[in-house]
Amino acid sequence: MSKKVRVRFAPSPTGGLHLGGVRTVLFNYLFARQHGGDFVLRIEDTDQSRYVPGAEEYIMECLRWCGLNPDEGPDTGGPYGPYRQSERKERYRQYAETLVAEGHAYYAFDTPEELESMREELRGKGISSPQYNHMVREGMRNSLTLPKEEVTALLEKNTPHVIRIKMLPGKTVKFTDLIRGEVSFDTSLADDKVLLKADGMPTYHLAVVADDHAMKITHVFRGEEWLPSAPVHILLWKYLGWEHEMPHWAHLPLILKPDGNGKLSKRDGDRLGFPVFAMQWTDPKTGDPVAGFREMGFLPEAFVNMLAMLGWNDGSEQEIFTLEELTDKFLIERVHKNGAKFNFEKAKWFNHEWIKKLPVSHYRQAVKQLYAAKGINITDEPHFERILELVKDRCTLLTDFVEQAAFFFRRPDQYDVEAVKPKWSADKADFFQELAGRYATMEGWEATAIEQVLKDLATEKTTKMGGLLLPFRVMLVGGKFGPPVFLIAETLGKEETIARIKTGLSKFE
Ligand code: GLU
Repeated sequence: MSKKVRVRFAPSPTGGLHLGGVRTVLFNYLFARQHGGDFVLRIEDTDQSRYVPGAEEYIMECLRWCGLNPDEGPDTGGPYGPYRQSERKERYRQYAETLVAEGHAYYAFDTPEELESMREELRGKGISSPQYNHMVREGMRNSLTLPKEEVTALLEKNTPHVIRIKMLPGKTVKFTDLIRGEVSFDTSLADDKVLLKADGMPTYHLAVVADDHAMKITHVFRGEEWLPSAPVHILLWKYLGWEHEMPHWAHLPLILKPDGNGKLSKRDGDRLGFPVFAMQWTDPKTGDPVAGFREMGFLPEAFVNMLAMLGWNDGSEQEIFTLEELTDKFLIERVHKNGAKFNFEKAKWFNHEWIKKLPVSHYRQAVKQLYAAKGINITDEPHFERILELVKDRCTLLTDFVEQAAFFFRRPDQYDVEAVKPKWSADKADFFQELAGRYATMEGWEATAIEQVLKDLATEKTTKMGGLLLPFRVMLVGGKFGPPVFLIAETLGKEETIARIKTGLSKFE
């Protein structure tokens, strides 16, 4: 019987959730769903110095917004909890001690000053990034170099120390990455990573392996930035005697900046004018909010779809996928090795497609909130839906619904007089005066009839239709935009249309 698939997303709660992080969530989620497995959220908060209050709740809210909810995690619970590493603290030390006892790790007593002078010395010899490794450890103060009694005495006195992994030089660590194929590392190039810190907390390397094992994780899908750490993790799986339980690995390609080869960073977003976080993030220290895709007016369906296509496709031309379709079609082996360039215009294209594709009832609430933020309170929901329906094809972002349709609820506060002026005349003013009169006596009020009345009057007065539609539109909406003008008039209603013609006339005078 094959093992039940279990995957995890293991963020450190240090700030906003980068879109690359959400894509990692997505690929894990899809894989779990398609294999009837479990998707675990584990909070990796062992580095107290980097902990940021609120970041954990924020991450969970992002996952909820994307519809990528974990089966197990700090708020849902589950059989392998607790799901916060800070609450699992006691479990790690024993593993580090076992590794020392079996000769795979050692105590290191070096003070910060001693470490710095070692680095100084190496820099002096032209080594630009000095490491604590097999060449250096012989000259340092650790349980490999000090006499046994001294080590025991130091430990008994609670002398500050860390536990480091002992990397054996001249070996090759090999593994199969589901995306990259065979990957191998030369252990001579690796340093003796700290596993347990002086404060008794594990480092990421020890905690991630201990917990992936404890939580019975079968597949580790994570960002490419973790690839260099993989050999350390693989050795730990071996040294802890768990080799036969080791998960499958896949390191996901980076998401690259649009105009270069580096990893897409928040700074690139600021520079080029787009968000990189899923949702708005406010750092509690600075209090400055940083924009997110959600606040910018993205639909979660579009955001998720766009992310799926960054580094993956199903081999066809299809680009628009629902989460169900993705669950059906996703293949981890089809994820590309190379980084995927982020393209904000393309991201917006996805959103536009999803706005058109989904029924407006699906995002009515979100748009309603945007209206409320602009001081427009929607009371007649069916009417609101009809209006959203009327303009949805013109909207790329949800925020566009405000620009494209707020005039239905609020008279324009500005008029694009400049657009009308060059062709405005006393004749036209008369025309609209009279038109308002005719509209007032009209029986029904629907677009074709409204149009006909205008046409008939134009024929009577031998005025060209072409010169009338623009001023009419500006009277109704304030500018040169919006759906077909007679539909606007119909939707506004008779009284309101007449009132706006009159206000418009006073503006154009
Ligand atoms: N805590 C790591 C992070 O912040 C997790 C990396 C992994 O998935 O192993 O991304």
